[in-house]
Amino acid sequence: MKYIFVTGGVMSGLGKGITTASVGRILKNRGMTVTAVKIDPYLNIDAGTMNPAQHGEVFVLSDGSEVDLDLGNYERFLDIDLTAAHNITTGKVYREVIEKERRGDYLGDTVQIIPHITDEIKAWIARAASEPDAEGRVADVCLVEVGGTVGDIESMPFLEAVRQMRGELPREDTVLIHVTLVPEDTMGDMKTKPTQHSVKALREVGLYPDMIVGRSGHPLSPQTKRKIAAFCDVAQWAVISNTTVPDIYQVPAELEKEGLADAVVDHLRLPRREVGSEWYNTVSREFTSRVTVAIVSKYGIEDVYLSIKEALKHAGRATSTEVKIVWLDAERFEPRQLADVDGVLVPGGFGRRGIEGKIEAIRCAREGRVPFLGLCLGFQLAVVEYSRHVLGWTDACSEEIGEGRHVIAILPEQGAVEGLGGTMRLGDYPVDLQDGTRVRALYGRDRIVERHRHRYEVAPEEIPALVGAGIIFSGTCGDRMEVMELGDHPFFLATQFHPEFRSRPARPSPPFVGFVRACREKRQADQVI
Ligand code: GLN
Repeated sequence: MKYIFVTGGVMSGLGKGITTASVGRILKNRGMTVTAVKIDPYLNIDAGTMNPAQHGEVFVLSDGSEVDLDLGNYERFLDIDLTAAHNITTGKVYREVIEKERRGDYLGDTVQIIPHITDEIKAWIARAASEPDAEGRVADVCLVEVGGTVGDIESMPFLEAVRQMRGELPREDTVLIHVTLVPEDTMGDMKTKPTQHSVKALREVGLYPDMIVGRSGHPLSPQTKRKIAAFCDVAQWAVISNTTVPDIYQVPAELEKEGLADAVVDHLRLPRREVGSEWYNTVSREFTSRVTVAIVSKYGIEDVYLSIKEALKHAGRATSTEVKIVWLDAERFEPRQLADVDGVLVPGGFGRRGIEGKIEAIRCAREGRVPFLGLCLGFQLAVVEYSRHVLGWTDACSEEIGEGRHVIAILPEQGAVEGLGGTMRLGDYPVDLQDGTRVRALYGRDRIVERHRHRYEVAPEEIPALVGAGIIFSGTCGDRMEVMELGDHPFFLATQFHPEFRSRPARPSPPFVGFVRACREKRQADQVI
């Protein structure tokens, strides 16, 4: 097993996750099997209980684990399926060690951060790295991204574990890439001091980077590279420029141009293989039309719905359509905001805030024959909207939201649930698609598997009336309603599951493809008029 450790300097939000995923991609383009581990030094056991406005989207894996959004980047860039073991948090590590201590596994030892916590971290990394993929293959290379910024107190045990691994393994089995910010001053001069300081902080904990990736608005000049090389004690060819590009899927090409792949491959003594072009063909489509999609949500931050944004991009590429997203604040929604919009998307969410605006947006889309895609909460609210305005049940609502006729009710098994962490209906469940429906045509299959994250469902006792009034529940999991669609509408589809989590650049998610295609048709029809 070869390990590529990635640390971050200067500040968070540098695109370390995208850089890590891109390094993996360029190795994969050379025929290697690659896996990835994300370390999050916070105390939460997992991302499931965290407010997405603080840390971004909670990504859901097939096994039902709720993880950091970077695992979504890894899955999309590397086209692999990961498991809970690939997101290590301080919470998980300490829980494991404390449980061992209580069991008496340490036999009288004083349990300490070094060696007990660091041993646990090392064992965890090795375990995740060697976990076979769906085809039973173990990866050649494992990327390990250490979240946070060097110098943070909470990342110290993880950096120490990395230091130990670097010492214990042969030199050619590990490489350390430090991702840092290279800002420009008001005169446009690139400043290397923050990078120098962050490398100094890294050295203080015994870590010496082999390569430095400088994130910047413009490509690093040769002088800047020379300076970083001199002050940070790396070769000049090992200073890599990673400029901000309009599309994250172009980052592997940028790093390739900078020679990062050859540098990594040579350092790890892996064979220099020919570069496959499949990825580059997938991500470099030409657009023949452009649509605008409104996402109605209570969050103003795009990272909260990162996977939806990416799934729209994947579907856009598949249909040669550039998808522009406008974010509409659900609490201030007004129908006139949909005037220039080709489609409406209501994503997942929790709680009451902004609910009425979302319902109103769904009504506008249904009555105005604007393509609509509802996801999870968006599915539930589409049922509520239809109940209120078509069935005339003016008090229809979801049990999560308030009093009234609960057309959306708590899942029966949720009654016994204690605590909020990891207790929803999570991860993969099969969904049977009904013949002759839109969703069946989109997937081209009778049975699909998609990822879930919810506590509520369509109330079973209300289903006959809803169906009688025209809702088509075209996808089900046993007695549970999973997909709804409307017949007399250009495109009105909503899913209880989250199709966005499985969407990949080369395998766009069918509901998204159908939605973008419908938006495109609407745009073309509008232009003719
Ligand atoms: N809040 C809803 C539920 O728990 C929807 C969840 C979601 O959109 N992920 O069922």
